[in-house]
Amino acid sequence: MNLKKIIFSTALVSATFASMAMTVEGTSVGKHGDVTVAVTFDQGVIKNIDVVKSNENPVLAAKVFTDLKTAIIENNSADIDSISGATVSSNALKNAVKQAAKKASVTLADSVVVTKRVQTIPQNSTYDVVVIGAGGAGFSAAITAKDAGSNVVLLEKMPTVGGNSLVSGAEMAVAGNWVQKKLGIEGDSVELHFQDTMKGGDYRGDPQVVRKMVENALPAALWVRDEIGVEFRDSLFFFGGHSKKRSLIPAGATGADFIQKFSVAAAKRDIPVITNMQAEKLIQNEQGRVVGVQATQNGKIYRFEAKKGVIIATGGFAANVEMRTKVNPFYGVNFKTTNMPGAQGEGIMMAEKVGAKTVNLELIQTYPMCDPNSGAIELIDDARFEGAILVNQEGKRFVEELERRDVISKAILSQTGKYCYALFNGTIAERSGAIEHHQDEVEVFTKSGTLHKAETLEDAANFFKIPVEALKKTVERVNGFAKTGKDLDFNYRNRFVDLSTGPYWIYRGVPSVHHTMGGLKINPNAQVLDQNDQPIPGLWAAGEVTGSTHGTNRLGSNAYTDIIVYGRIAGEEASK
Ligand code: ADP
Repeated sequence: MNLKKIIFSTALVSATFASMAMTVEGTSVGKHGDVTVAVTFDQGVIKNIDVVKSNENPVLAAKVFTDLKTAIIENNSADIDSISGATVSSNALKNAVKQAAKKASVTLADSVVVTKRVQTIPQNSTYDVVVIGAGGAGFSAAITAKDAGSNVVLLEKMPTVGGNSLVSGAEMAVAGNWVQKKLGIEGDSVELHFQDTMKGGDYRGDPQVVRKMVENALPAALWVRDEIGVEFRDSLFFFGGHSKKRSLIPAGATGADFIQKFSVAAAKRDIPVITNMQAEKLIQNEQGRVVGVQATQNGKIYRFEAKKGVIIATGGFAANVEMRTKVNPFYGVNFKTTNMPGAQGEGIMMAEKVGAKTVNLELIQTYPMCDPNSGAIELIDDARFEGAILVNQEGKRFVEELERRDVISKAILSQTGKYCYALFNGTIAERSGAIEHHQDEVEVFTKSGTLHKAETLEDAANFFKIPVEALKKTVERVNGFAKTGKDLDFNYRNRFVDLSTGPYWIYRGVPSVHHTMGGLKINPNAQVLDQNDQPIPGLWAAGEVTGSTHGTNRLGSNAYTDIIVYGRIAGEEASK
């Protein structure tokens, strides 16, 4: 439930004459491709707006297609304040409506002042558990705490919920899951998942924390499936560094699948989710127990007292260039980030002020294949997990495509131009769903020249000025490996797909800062530890803000496992 309510004032309607009802389409470009609306005008006044096409993020842009749309209709104007945090999508809707009005020769009302009324939040309130940060970890913690009988509040500093959990591919690594059984994948175990995670992080993760994560992965996945209602596909991904295909894929292959369902689950339980509320300070009593949170909204200070405990679920600091530079200068200004702007690391700083210990802060991960323009993760890179090959500007492979993210990123950074290309064909597109599920990206990347669909390898090579013969030779060699099942060049751990038939897709990618492995030191009960490794009373943490799980390198799809497992543990423990 969002405590912020917006009401719209009535405004003067001025319209030129239009004699009868008509519906006209208008289009404008949003954050993820075209937004098309069908606007019905009657007597020169907007009567209805149907959104015919939109690939905007369903959570981030939700208010654009509800509150803003209503305001446009009620005020007969498209000159209205944008929804904060969703400016690009807001402008797309307004401009599409304006285009439709122009086509219909309708003059809309001029700029309208929309009055907002914010429901009063008491300056001091008391809950059992206060959760900071409404990403996957925060939602899991808040819902679990509520179900354990606690009175809970969830604070989120941004205008919309979801954090990085929302924009992630949201795959979840779970050994022994139901899809493995369906597909006949044998030989996986909690122990193997444990070994992979420890090895993948060069044994810098805390073995007890990791063990508890892998042991609770299946119960956590069943909880999100059966209690929260997240739907999963009947297929799995084989992420780099895992020795088995074990990563569950939500139906839409994005975090919106989780965050939408979490929002509904929180609303059903009457958990207040207060957006635009930035936690700034942990409140301690005389004995040093954390007993609440001080936060601000629009410059006004609020106190949320916590009778049982505070859970920090504020995510990492990948979007904080200054902090990145301080802890590891290599990952400073030279990299863009895949993260949402909210990933600033203040959860770590707040906890440090009450004596919390941090671990592994210098360990920062880049995601190897990101949009060279924005730094955002390329979700179409799902194709890589089903056989897309990586080639450099010279048309040659240079790394095993299912290697760890750090290894692939480093390899890309030593190629010409510090970028590379991924190439795949229709078989891989079908198996991975990379094209079908990420149409928005396909549209945007095609327009920006980052992605090209080609009927032939010649076309694919020529588009990016890769030497044709070199690319052909690479593909022929891969086709040979596909036949024998053995990659003699880079020891590909899966079986290659034959790439002799098109159509082909080829996209350019660069590494971009994706995950901050370090953070607060926790124990397996999600308690935040002090300098002497003793729990700080009243304080728990879960998710990317913690630093005890992933070591030097987080394996793909272990983040969702971590945030759900430890969110639930924190919610349960803080409620005791
Ligand atoms: P995780 O994957 O660990 O759940 P996310 O990045 O998905 O992390 O979510 C963390 C959330 O915490 C984001 O929505 C972010 O905006 C929010 N957040 C970060 N700092 C604060 C803060 N000081 N007060 C309130 N919310 C915060």
